[in-house]
Amino acid sequence: MRTLGLLGGMAWPSTAEAYRLLNQQIAERLGGAHSARLLIWSADFAEIEQLQSSGHWDQAGQVLADAARRLEVAGAEGLLLCTNTMHRVAEVIEAAVGIPLLHIADATGERAVADGRRRVGLLGTRFTMEETFYRDRLAGHGLDVLVPEAADRELVHRVIYDELVHGMVNDRSRARYISIAERLVGDGAEAIIAGCTEIELLLRPQDLPVELYPTTRLHVSAAADWMLADDAVT
Ligand code: GLU
Repeated sequence: MRTLGLLGGMAWPSTAEAYRLLNQQIAERLGGAHSARLLIWSADFAEIEQLQSSGHWDQAGQVLADAARRLEVAGAEGLLLCTNTMHRVAEVIEAAVGIPLLHIADATGERAVADGRRRVGLLGTRFTMEETFYRDRLAGHGLDVLVPEAADRELVHRVIYDELVHGMVNDRSRARYISIAERLVGDGAEAIIAGCTEIELLLRPQDLPVELYPTTRLHVSAAADWMLADDAVT
């Protein structure tokens, strides 16, 4: 089994979920008392959030590149960046290490395409919905990506930063997310991507009239495949 390094804490509720799911998946696949070989670096999210909101992406990239190097030195053979938003600096992290970064948008895009989807709705932070780094990566898989209108994007973004990253799950916010997702479906989305790693703690598959793609779950699943790939040393 390969050892995976998690760049986490962005925010902690979804990293806790990724940790739980990775162990569960490895246990299911290998049976017995098996669990996942992991190293976790967990950010102080206040620092990351400040760098995001002030637009200091170069500095944020350096913080994560430094963490990635530490994980590599500690024995990680690959990296999982447990946030969609911070994939904005994926290339900076990749350049800092000699081990692969398993990209969350690839895990998600590959699954959507395998399911025959062409047009997907994307919910996430303002950065993920409005900038090109994430939508272009999905488009690279052949997907047409729809995002909510401006007022809806603002609401989705605020719920992430005011509630979900603090571990707060609120029924009223869930109802609002459902309405926004339904509007995307009305515009032609065949599925909805929960493109923030905490959204799947709020939105459940049964909440939507179409398939929900949970990025934490899909990322973890791709990572478990990679950890147990045929060429991995056992
Ligand atoms: N976890 C979120 C994401 O997947 C948002 C927190 C962050 O900005 O990293 O985008």
